[in-house]
Amino acid sequence: MRILRTIAEMKTLRREWQSSLGFVPTMGYLHEGHLSLVRQSKSENKTTATSIFINPAQFAPNEDFKAYPRDAQRDLKMLEGVGNDIVFMPDATEMYPASYSTWVDMEGITGRLEGAVRPGHFKGVTTVVAKLFNILEPHRAYFGQKDAQQALVIRKMAKDLNMNVDIVVMPTVRETDGLAMSSRNIYLNAEERRSATVLYRSLIMARELFTGGERDAAKIKDRMLAMIEAEALAWIDYVSIADMETLEELTLIDSPALVSLAVRFGKTRLIDNITL
Ligand code: AMP
Repeated sequence: MRILRTIAEMKTLRREWQSSLGFVPTMGYLHEGHLSLVRQSKSENKTTATSIFINPAQFAPNEDFKAYPRDAQRDLKMLEGVGNDIVFMPDATEMYPASYSTWVDMEGITGRLEGAVRPGHFKGVTTVVAKLFNILEPHRAYFGQKDAQQALVIRKMAKDLNMNVDIVVMPTVRETDGLAMSSRNIYLNAEERRSATVLYRSLIMARELFTGGERDAAKIKDRMLAMIEAEALAWIDYVSIADMETLEELTLIDSPALVSLAVRFGKTRLIDNITL
C-alpha cells in the first residue's frame, strides 16, 4: 500500500496509470461502513485509492473539528487489511493555503435538512470533493447512503459540473442493534449508546407504518417524534420525510421518499435515514 502526503506526489503517481481508479474519500477513524466502500471499489476497479482528510471547511466554528477522532495508524492497518492500494493523506495547509479563495457552492438542496442546521457545511463538502476529484481523477467514487443528502449533493455536483466520474452509493452498514456505524459513535457513553438505537427503531417504525398503508407524512413523523422524545437523552434537530430528489418536505408520500433524522445525545450529533 502506498501512502502519499502531498498533492504533487499524488498527481505524479496518477499520471502513471491509465487503468481504472476507484476512489473512497473519508475523514478517517475508519469502520466497516468505510471498508464496505473500499471493497466495492476493489471489485469494480483495477486500483483503489482512499483519502483520509478531516476537512476543516465543512465544520462550523462551534462544531467538533478539533475533537473529531483521529488514529492514522489504526486506519492504515484497516486499509491494508482489505487490500486498499493507495492512501492520500494531505495536509490542511496544502489543501487550503493562506491564499485560498475558490469555493464550489451549490444552491437548492444544500439549504435543506443538514444544510439548514449546518449552514456552510455542504459548501465545504463540495469544495473538498471537487478538489480531491481534480487531484486523483478517479473513474468512480464511492459514497455511503448513511449520508444520503451528501450523496445526492455529490451526484448533482458531478452532473452539473460535467465531471468525468461515476458516483456509486452503497448501503448503510449498521451495528447488530441497528445503530448506523459512524466515527462519531465513539463519543457516546454507555447510556447514550443504548439510547441511540432509537434512531433506527424510529426509522423501522416509519417503514412499518408506510408498508401498512399510511401515506400521511405528518402522522408518521409525529409517531417518530414521540418515540424519540421518550428517550430522555435524545435532543431532536429534525425528523423529515422528503422527496428523494428535491428534498422538499412531503405532505402525502406519493413519490420515492427519504426519511431522515438528526438527533443529539449529549455532545454527539447522529444522523440516519431510510428510503421509502
Ligand atoms: P466520513 O469519514 O464520515 O466522511 O465518511 C466517508 C464515507 O463513508 C462517506 O461517503 C460516508 O457516507 C460513508 N459512510 C460513513 N458511515 C457509513 C456507514 N455506516 N455505512 C456506509 N457508508 C458509510
